[in-house]
Amino acid sequence: MSREKSWKEISPAGVCSKPSTAFLTGDWKTFTPVRDLEKCTTCLLCVIYCPDGAIRFRSEAGKIEFDYRFCKGCGICAKECPTKAITMKLEKGE
Ligand code: SF4
Ligand code: SF4
Repeated sequence: MSREKSWKEISPAGVCSKPSTAFLTGDWKTFTPVRDLEKCTTCLLCVIYCPDGAIRFRSEAGKIEFDYRFCKGCGICAKECPTKAITMKLEKGE
């Protein structure tokens, strides 16, 4: 009868040696978030909800900015925006 291996006996799993910031994952996306400045109240909920940290608040400009180099186009920001200021578009860019 075979015995299950202990954690000390199994092979180490593959580990990526680079942080996710070393990869420009933005080119994975199909849809791109685009914000309507008229509707945006700068509540910053999208900044909190973005799982990739791809939305930043620029205090000097008083507005949020998308970092399309890392945005994967998941659409969470558009879903969570309370004023529906973000729409997901097929074309790239804001
Ligand atoms: S969640 Fe919507 S209203 Fe709030 S900062 Fe983001 S785009 Fe603007
Ligand atoms: S679409 Fe997803 S990854 Fe891109 S900015 Fe919105 S929440 Fe972040």
